[in-house]
Order: sequence, then C-alpha cells, then structure tokens
Amino acid sequence: MADMKPVLIVGAGPVGMVAAAALLREGIPVTVLEAGPTISDEMRASTFHAPTLDMLDDLGAAKDMIRQGLKGPILQYRQRDQAVIAQFDFGILADVTRHPFRLQCEQFKLTRILYDLLRDKPGFSIRFDAQVADAVDHGDHVEAVLEDGTRIAGSYLIGADGARSAVRKAAGIAFEGFTWPERFLVLSTEFDFASIIPNLADVTYYADPEEWFFLLRVPGVWRCMFPVAPEVTDEEIETDDFARARFARILAGRDDYPVRHRTLYRVHQRVAETFRKGRLLLAGDAAHINNPLGGMGLNGGVHDAVNLVEKLARIIRGEAGEAELDRYVRQRRGITVEHVQRQTIQNKKNLEAKTPEDQADFRDRMAEAASDPAKAHAYLLGVSMINSLKRAAEIG
Ligand SMILES: Cc1cc2nc3c(=O)[nH]c(=O)nc-3n(C[C@H](O)[C@H](O)[C@H](O)COP(=O)(O)OP(=O)(O)OC[C@H]3O[C@@H](n4cnc5c(N)ncnc54)[C@H](O)[C@@H]3O)c2cc1C
Repeated sequence: MADMKPVLIVGAGPVGMVAAAALLREGIPVTVLEAGPTISDEMRASTFHAPTLDMLDDLGAAKDMIRQGLKGPILQYRQRDQAVIAQFDFGILADVTRHPFRLQCEQFKLTRILYDLLRDKPGFSIRFDAQVADAVDHGDHVEAVLEDGTRIAGSYLIGADGARSAVRKAAGIAFEGFTWPERFLVLSTEFDFASIIPNLADVTYYADPEEWFFLLRVPGVWRCMFPVAPEVTDEEIETDDFARARFARILAGRDDYPVRHRTLYRVHQRVAETFRKGRLLLAGDAAHINNPLGGMGLNGGVHDAVNLVEKLARIIRGEAGEAELDRYVRQRRGITVEHVQRQTIQNKKNLEAKTPEDQADFRDRMAEAASDPAKAHAYLLGVSMINSLKRAAEIG
C-alpha cells in the first residue's frame, strides 16, 4: 500500500466517506480533501433504504447507524383528512435483505461513524480546509489543485463534492435537468404527532391537491416537509405565522407545535451528462440530484460509491481495464435516469395530483399494490431501490 498513489476523494460528505471506506477495505490508500474545517454536522437527508444498510453493514457502519437512528418498518400514504390510502410493511422484504426496514438517521451520523472508523487506519488521510479549485487528468495519474495552489497527486480522483461540484466543472461535464419553481421547507418539532394521529407510521406521505406534505420521524423530532410557492419571500418563511399556517394543515384545530429547526431549500432534477472524464469520476450529488420524495438521492449516491470502488479496485489490481469505468457510467447513470429521476418526479406528481381522475388513479394504484403480500413485495422492491440495483447489475 505504501508504494501506491492514493485515490483522491474530493468531499468528506456521506458519499465521499463511503467511497473512502470501500477503497480502504480493498487495500487501496485514499486521500480525502474536504473544504470544510471538519466533518459537516448538517442534518439533511435521513432515510436509509434496506440495500444501502446492507452495504454499510459490509463496511462496518450499519450497527452504529441503527443504534443512533430509528427503524421505520411501516410506510403510509394518507389523504389530508387522515384517511389511510395504503400502508406497507418493509418486513416482507426479509427474504431479500438483512435490513427489512427504512432507517431514519441523519446523514451527519453516517459521516461521523465512518470518520471514526477510518481516521486511524493505515492508508487513510484527510485534509480539512482543503477547497479543491481544479482537477487535472494527466493520463496516467491525476492532480487536485487546491485554492491556495497546492497540488496533490493521486491515481484516480472521485468528485464527491456535492451538487455544485468543482470536479464536475473542472472536467467540463454539463449538469442537465431542471429546477422546480417551488422550494421545500422542512420544519422539525419535538412534538410527537403519533400521540394525536392514531396509527401514524414513522414515514407518512400526505397527498393533497392544494399542499402535499410528509411527516417523518427521526430520533427526538418529527420532520415535516412542505412545498413553498415561489412568490413567498424568505422573510415570510422565517416567521412563526408561516410555520403555524403549515402546521395547521396537518391536523385541523392545532398549529402550535414548537419549531426546533427550519430548513428551506431549492430542489432540482439534474443528471451529469457523464459520470467520467478519463480518470476524473463523479459520484453522489456531484453526479445527480433529485427531489427528496422517496429518499433516493443519498441512497443512490452510496450505491454509486460502492459500484465505482468495486470497479476501480479491479483496475488498480490489474484485473480489469479502464473500460470498466465506462460500465460504471452505463450502470449508475443509466439507472439514475431510468429509475431515480423518473420515480422521484412521479412521487411528487402522485402527492400533488390536481384532478379527481389523477387522485383516484394514485389511490387505485396504491390500493392495488397493498392488496396482497406478493404485490406489496413487488412494490417495496422498487421503493427500497432493490430493483434499481438489480437493473444496474444487468447493464453490461
Ligand atoms: C438543505 C438540504 C436538505 C436536504 N434534505 C434531504 C432530505 O430530507 N432527504 C434527502 O433524501 N435528501 C436531502 N438532501 C440531499 C442529500 O443531503 C444529498 O443527496 C447528500 O448529502 C449527498 O451526499 P454527497 O456526499 O454526494 O454530497 P454532500 O453531502 O453535499 O457532501 C459534499 C462534501 O464536499 C465538500 N465540498 C464541496 N465542494 C468542495 C470542494 N471544492 N473541495 C473540497 N470539498 C468540497 C462539502 O463541504 C461536503 O462536505 C438535502 C440537501 C440539502 C442541501
């Protein structure tokens, strides 16, 4: 390992740290370059699907995640009047995964767990306050150029540097797609909605033609997500009145839940035109972003990292040629477009369906999927991204 040039990983977010853990497991040294002064403690994504947990378990991280998170065995769809449209139990996936549930655990917990696992391992090095400004492919090696001009050499470079990826820009890769006009607001509250809404599941999506929303429980708080129309100003969104008006839509007659966190963000559907230029590679948000309905963005990023490392390791060991990296692009970009983008856009359409026909269509499809265990099993294979991984593996 001492003689090998490290693989450079730009970004110590969840995807970069998973790539680092997977490379070290293969005996390949890594250098992680992170712009921030330390590992980020932003909450952001909090959904981990079954196959992602299986992968994290292989890297030694899942048990701590489960200890620090909350197992959500049930997924519900409701109408705003609280009528349950359909309910699914992830337990029926026990025949295809070691983790038949959805784990609710903030993403910073994963990055911290991985950092603690890796920090003293031989072959692992990380530089904080290391903002990468450029990435250069020299054909037989790569260089990352920091803002202060420092140049760091490596064998390959993985851009896991998020949606505004400097690596993607340095490689001249376009980020095609669109931005939704509405922004998404997450209000977190310590109030326990399960105490006032009978049989509420820890993950519940509400369909409503006027204003869809979802309730999602993480340890200690419920996260409530609402769309916000483009004309509403940031100042207005910050007010307690605005939060109360959103909360009033959850259960008639109550709007007084205390707000612990408030996060507003812009939502995009974009996929990089390729995930590879020579030895420069993209994974996670640097390669694709989507709306959070279904919790597929971060999970897809972890799936990228694991897929990419498996191929890189074989190339570095001399067991495969660089064409393997094109297969990474075909597989991961392929299913991102075919499955993740399509599904997340459909999830939003389902919840906001405006016409009675479209609303009835959604209700009928869900009722049909929940009507017997075999159909529910097939439906949950899609929801938990097991199907997309299977499909990716079939792409040659
Ligand atoms: C406000 C917000 C809320 C979100 N909420 C949800 C949610 O509820 N559900 C959901 O599914 N998804 C959500 N997402 C998306 C989810 O957080 C991402 O899919 C996930 O973080 C992707 O991980 P990543 O490692 O690819 O990128 P990131 O988590 O963005 O990590 C990138 C890392 O790279 C570092 N970096 C950036 N540029 C450079 C550079 N030039 N040089 C060196 N380092 C650099 C950053 O500091 C960061 O540590 C949210 C995103 C945002 C922004």
